Amino acid sequence: MEDRAGKIWTEEMIRSEIMGMDNKTGLKGADLPIKFNPDKSALGSYCWQGEGYFTFSELFFKDPEWPLEAAINTIRHEYAHYMDRKLYGHCGHGKTWRDCCMQVGAFPIACYSREIEEFFGLLSEKKRKTRERKEQEMER
Ligand SMILES: [Zn+2]
Repeated sequence: MEDRAGKIWTEEMIRSEIMGMDNKTGLKGADLPIKFNPDKSALGSYCWQGEGYFTFSELFFKDPEWPLEAAINTIRHEYAHYMDRKLYGHCGHGKTWRDCCMQVGAFPIACYSREIEEFFGLLSEKKRKTRERKEQEMER
């Protein structure tokens, strides 16, 4: 069976994923700032204000048990927002965003959810408990 273990994502690793998509689209997403935050509800976001920037939740991206596929999908999802904004001036999860997703290989699904994790079949009960514990610790 394929090794599906995740890893700790650094800014450089995320940037190189973005660079791979830039190579396909001809855009310059890799030039934008990449930030981390401790957000529990959003895995990532793209903010279009100013030059724009990406934010990713360190709760997931710094968790080596979080599946690699989920991380890559999150980066592509946010990139599709960037692309949609650049090419069509749109935000949100409309048709042009879904088209962008298809081009960069992201699931054209508005919100990352437990359903996707279940689709991957990767999140064992043990990992889920570890994450819940971590989330509680962060609330203190
Ligand atoms: Zn989105």
